[in-house]
Parts: sequence; structure tokens; C-alpha cells
Amino acid sequence: MDTEMLIGSRFEAGTETEEKILNPKTGATILDLPEASHAQIDAAVDAAEKAFVSWSMTTPAERSGYLLKIADAIEKDAGAFAALESLNCGKPINAARNDELPAIVDCWRFFAGAIRSMQATVAGEYLPGFTSMIRRDPIGIVGSIAPWNYPLMMMAWKLAPALAGGNTVVFKPSEQTPLTALKMAKLLADILPEGVVNIVLGRGETVGNTLINHPKVSMVSITGDIATGKKVLVAAARTVKRTHLELGGKAPVIVYDDADLAAVVQGIRAFGYYNAGQDCTAACRIYAEDGIYEKLVADLSSAVSTIRYNDPDDTTNEIGPLISKRQRDRVASFVERAAELKHVEITTGGRAGSDEGYFFQPTVVAGATQDDEIVRREVFGPVVSVTRFTETE
Ligand code: NAD
Repeated sequence: MDTEMLIGSRFEAGTETEEKILNPKTGATILDLPEASHAQIDAAVDAAEKAFVSWSMTTPAERSGYLLKIADAIEKDAGAFAALESLNCGKPINAARNDELPAIVDCWRFFAGAIRSMQATVAGEYLPGFTSMIRRDPIGIVGSIAPWNYPLMMMAWKLAPALAGGNTVVFKPSEQTPLTALKMAKLLADILPEGVVNIVLGRGETVGNTLINHPKVSMVSITGDIATGKKVLVAAARTVKRTHLELGGKAPVIVYDDADLAAVVQGIRAFGYYNAGQDCTAACRIYAEDGIYEKLVADLSSAVSTIRYNDPDDTTNEIGPLISKRQRDRVASFVERAAELKHVEITTGGRAGSDEGYFFQPTVVAGATQDDEIVRREVFGPVVSVTRFTETE
């Protein structure tokens, strides 16, 4: 297992506080990884700054070639990447291997193509005697910060467009899920010029905070909590950085009386619970019209009760545990508060799994009303609420 950060062309361990990397299926420690010091973060930024001089001058064709090589290398080693992601996140191995890895490889290939077909505003004489045009230049060093729900995919979404555009990157994975990023460090160091990508480890409030406030970082890209996004905006305002924020979600599904009930149930069973609901696009907030409501709750509850999530034979599991004890307890507390309401009924699930690890039963919360917390706040767990409506307005 790769355990070292990438700073320029050097592989080195962090020198600060150790973080326990846990297996969410069992709660067991996989290993302890120390986080980066200020000096190591500075060194990573300096390496990115140095690399920017020549990387920003490469042609789209050259960068496209690098991205395609990265895609091929990930594809070649997809089984090992999937196994590592599954170990660190608790994802069922089939989901990691068959859903995520192909999409990750495709993301690298997509940006390899996109950078060769950039669109721009037409140049013209908007002032007499002057020709105006817009060109797209690299911004500089991008500080990229990823969450724990799709570590390798978020790394692809952040690195591929930034690199395609001629920027260099200092990347920080989530302190809970750094293992695939560390494997990527080796792969990237073999393919890219020194310093184009640097990988530092650590917590948000220490390493993340240093990165988003760093004077040499020109842009910050982050996926995570809304509160974290706000901190990035404050830091960006102070130092005038560009930002790219991907924060929370609470996707609604509106079901009318004439809907194809079986298709609706199948859709929600899949996309309300995928990745144990740890997904900002999870279909987690259902509004059902009066005439279909009872049947939808009955059929959905029965379908959800069959979701396989803690079978010792992982190849049969559809979803896995939550990422941490903290996240499981957070999800449980949402469900407990909802269950205390007289109008709410938990029609299936509702409890933490009985096994070791951070499992939570796939849950349906029926009868929730628009003002209820369970309808308004992101749960980020295998929990879907159903709300009855009579009028579209
Ligand atoms: P988080 O925002 O705390 O962490 C996401 C990333 O940001 C991590 O790498 C973390 O180290 C870093 N970070 C945290 N604080 C920081 C700071 N002050 N400065 C710089 N970086 C910082 O999110 P979380 O604790 O992992 O999850 C909490 C909630 O965030 C979830 O329950 C969910 O609602 C939301 N979330 C959304 C997504 C998504 O895909 N949109 C992904 C993960 C989490």
C-alpha cells in the first residue's frame, strides 16, 4: 500500500499529527497516516509554482496526450484501485469496480478531448480600429480538496480539467479516504513532469485551511459541506482567488397519481440509496400525490427492505456502510428526531446495523411534512422521506 505524499518528485511522509484510516465495514484501523506540516505544504506549492512555468506553455495536444496516458494507466490497474477504494470507503467491490472505475477513466478521457475543442467568443472590431478577442489562459496553481464519498472520482473531476487547462495542482484528499490518492501519486509521478500534481495529506482545519489561504494558490476547488464552502469563500475574498464549490444537495422526486409506480419504486430504490445515500444527488425527498401515496409507501418500503447491505459475501451487496461512526450516528440522530413526530412513521429500517462497522439499515420515513427537518436537511445516509401532497402548487 502506498503511504507517502507527493511533493515535486519526492515521496515523503507527513511530519505532523497521525490520522487513523479505518475500514468502515469493520471499524478496524487500516493504518495511521501523519499529516503534512506547513513547510511541506509550502514545498508542494513551490513545486507547483515551478512546474507551472513550462506546463502552462504546453499545447492542448500535449496535455491531452498526458491525460490519455493517465486514463490508460488507471484502466490497466482498475481492479487494484477498486479494491483499495472499497477497503477505505466500505463500498461494495462491484460498485467500485463496475460503476466508478469506468466513469473515472472516462472523465480523464473526456477532458483530454474537451481541451482540444474549446469554444471561444468570436474575435472582432468592437471598437473601430481595435481587434478584440478572448483567450483562455491557465490560472496558475489550483488547490483541490476532495470529500470521502467518491475519493478517486472526485480526484478525477478536480485534476483532469485543471491539468487540461494548463494549471498545476496541489491536491488534498479527505483525511478519512486518502488511500487511492496515494496510489494515484505513484501513477501520476510516472507520467507527468515533476511538480505538475502534488498531493498532501491532512485534516480540513489544518492542511485544508493552509491551502485555501495560501497566497500562491490562485484557485480553490472543493467538494464538501456547505459550511466548508463558506470558509473557502471567505478565504478567497481575502486573497482574491477563484473558486469552484460543489456542496450539499437534497434532490426531490415528484410522483403524480398517474406515474408508473413500479418504475418509480425501482428508480428510488436505486438512486435514493446508492453509495448508502452518501451522495449530493441522492433522490432522497419524495413528494407523492394523494391517490398514489399509500401504494407508493407500501411498495417502496417493501422494495427497500430487500436492499442488500451487510452480507459477508460482499459481491452480493448493493450498498455498504457509512463512512464513519460519526456519520452513522449523525444519520441515526436524524431518523430518531423524525420518528418522535406523531405524523411520521418509519416503514422500514430506522436503525444502525447489528454488525460491526458503520452500517445503517436502508430506511423509509413516511408521512413527513414539508417543514420537518428530515425533508429540509441533507441526511447523507440511506434514508428517504415521503411527503403527501394534494395540489401541485
Ligand atoms: P467537509 O466539508 O468537512 O470535508 C470535505 C473536504 O473539505 C475534506 O477534504 C476536508 O478535509 C476539507 N475541509 C474541511 N474543513 C476545511 C477547511 N476549513 N478548510 C479547507 N478544507 C476543509 O465534509 P465532511 O465532514 O466530509 O462531510 C460533511 C457533510 O458534507 C456531509 O454530511 C454532506 O452533507 C456534505 N458532503 C457533500 C459532498 C458532495 O459530494 N457534495 C461530499 C461529502 C460531504
